[in-house]
Amino acid sequence: MDIHRTLCFPDGLKTCFRCCPPIRPVDYDHLLYRSFVERELREHTSALKERPPGVKPITGYSCWGLGYLDPDYRLVGCLLHPARNNGTDLRHLIDYGSKCRTATCREAVHFEALAGRRQSFWHGLCLDLDSFEYSSPRSNPLFHVLLWGPQLLTFIAEKELPEIARDPLIFERYPFLRLPRPGARRYLVERIERKFGLETISSPRFVERFEDYRKTLARFHADPATVPPDAPFTHRLGLDVSFSDFVRLELNYRRITQQRALELRDLIDSDMLKWFS
Ligand code: SF4
Ligand code: SF4
Repeated sequence: MDIHRTLCFPDGLKTCFRCCPPIRPVDYDHLLYRSFVERELREHTSALKERPPGVKPITGYSCWGLGYLDPDYRLVGCLLHPARNNGTDLRHLIDYGSKCRTATCREAVHFEALAGRRQSFWHGLCLDLDSFEYSSPRSNPLFHVLLWGPQLLTFIAEKELPEIARDPLIFERYPFLRLPRPGARRYLVERIERKFGLETISSPRFVERFEDYRKTLARFHADPATVPPDAPFTHRLGLDVSFSDFVRLELNYRRITQQRALELRDLIDSDMLKWFS
């Protein structure tokens, strides 16, 4: 059967709580403070069992609504969520309720876009992790891999199934997966894969050629100073998300005209033919 999973709660054995609370700094990692956070989670869990909660705004790295969801202290999650309170949403009590309701990460969006069997393939990267390890981008390679986006991850999964992804084997077969800043670069790899196939992006020399190609593109085509200051913001142009991220994050165009964006796309495609044909 094709099981569809969520990245937040993938298999009943662990949960992700990386984004709780939503006001923590982006590089904060619960795993680095494990024993302290474990003690806090136990305190939150028993406090909420003992008395009904009232309004108490949160201010720092910790939320008093975060606790253990199971008696074995394996699953960490929101004790104020409607699923824990007979359908009543208590997340407003921390004063960031609407942010909690709407917050989701790019990795979870990409995971959601994968078909169930492809999710199961990539879930192989974190089979043995507990909730703390799973929630940590330092110890869970799935977070980094997911930023390459559902298109590439689908092609790789289809090629490798019925095996499941394992670290380090999958990175030896597809070394580009370890490259930094996948969100900014996935557009290029997607285009190369579409034009030249999976064999090209998994070949041993691909990473080196790709890096040369990427740096050359940035050197010759990144010229945001020439864009009129009243040009639209890049992310508002309605471009394909991976192309928009590439233009914004890799070529540094915070604003760009539609015409310049389309010119860049054509230039990138014609340069690609020279580099990878
Ligand atoms: S960081 Fe992403 S996967 Fe983790 S709990 Fe938040 S939305 Fe879910
Ligand atoms: S209220 Fe729940 S979802 Fe919001 S930060 Fe606290 S534990 Fe996380």
